[in-house]
Amino acid sequence: MERERIVKGLTSGIVVPEGLLAHGRGEALDYLLGEETTPVAMEAIKAAAALLLLSRRPVISVNGNAAALVGEELVRLSRELGAPLEVNLFYRSADRIRRIKEHLLSLGAEEVLTAEEDLVEVPGLESARRLVSRRGIYSADTVLVMMEDGDRTEKLVAMGKKVIAVDLNPLSRTARAATITIVDNVTRCIPLLRERVAEMRRLSREELDSIVRGFDNQRNLRESIALISKRLARLSGYEEPLSD
Ligand code: ATP
Ligand code: MG
Repeated sequence: MERERIVKGLTSGIVVPEGLLAHGRGEALDYLLGEETTPVAMEAIKAAAALLLLSRRPVISVNGNAAALVGEELVRLSRELGAPLEVNLFYRSADRIRRIKEHLLSLGAEEVLTAEEDLVEVPGLESARRLVSRRGIYSADTVLVMMEDGDRTEKLVAMGKKVIAVDLNPLSRTARAATITIVDNVTRCIPLLRERVAEMRRLSREELDSIVRGFDNQRNLRESIALISKRLARLSGYEEPLSD
């Protein structure tokens, strides 16, 4: 079903061919994780929900794959948080931006920013991903990203923003540079994140703050890698690492 959505996105001009490659890489990593949301990912989802609730201006960055795979869920998350969706593309064209915006609006989005009216640049970034909306990503305190390239995450963090990344690859530059990385498939993660936000809304700022401060992203990434390696060791029948 996920593949069909991506391919449908390709034919409707939302997804670019390069998006298929990124999706395939994600599928391979999801296979290694057991195609389920791990307890390690759940910890990151909880910390991400707390950070989003503490943020004054959270923004959800949407690219073609995200719109095709979880457009509806992103619209729901955006409503739950009162956070705008902003279309941000590596392979940017006016036509693709319009199609993605229309797709999100047809799914019930209230506000979709595209940086066409108030375009500014993320300093130090070469790709078209540098083009952001002044009242969106540019002035956000927290940005939620997915299927992202490492460069922009690094630059957003350098601008002093908090970045929450959903990335199936615990080794990617995005995963390493983000403030909080959720190593999970967006199709499982975004609905879980929305549920957590709704549940945790009743917590005090102090409680939310202590959840965020108690989260260590580098440790969480190491735990995801350890889960993959333990799972492979179990499946291979060699519980102990082989000597070379
Ligand atoms: P980086 O530049 O961060 O080191 P990269 O060059 O691999 O990484 P991209 O080519 O932009 O980055 O790939 C997008 C990332 O999205 C990949 O790490 C891929 O594993 C991940 N990804 C693909 N599909 C999904 C999905 N459905 N859910 C979550 N992550 C995904
Ligand atoms: Mg890259």
